[in-house]
Amino acid sequence: MMEYDYGKLLDRAWANLPEKLRDHSRFELPKADSFVEGNQTILKNFNEIADTLGRDPRHIQTYLSKELAALIVVEGKRIIINRALKREMINKRIEDYAREYVICHECGRPDTKFTELEGERIIKCEACGGWWPQRKIK
Ligand SMILES: [Zn+2]
Repeated sequence: MMEYDYGKLLDRAWANLPEKLRDHSRFELPKADSFVEGNQTILKNFNEIADTLGRDPRHIQTYLSKELAALIVVEGKRIIINRALKREMINKRIEDYAREYVICHECGRPDTKFTELEGERIIKCEACGGWWPQRKIK
């Protein structure tokens, strides 16, 4: 009788998974590409960040505006924040945003979407079915 090497079998199963399914573990938070001009910060890749997070840019804009306590103007694919900010500070806010509104609170995957449950706004994970209430931006 043949002996199976389960480690190898698992490796093979993993390798055969479609690219889409394997991608989850490699989800990387988008990083801000920004620079300061006078007392403003221009975030050049804002649209790209929204795309990667899979969220409505307006929602992220509202969030950043409140969290950074600054007015934000959209200019094409970039935004102009009415405050001089270090890049790390913007990255931190993007990370906070992703943790609250994108990354599943149950399984840690990014395959979530905004939806409703009995009239309440929630965020639902399409990978594990978990959900949590969508916190209002105050
Ligand atoms: Zn999940």
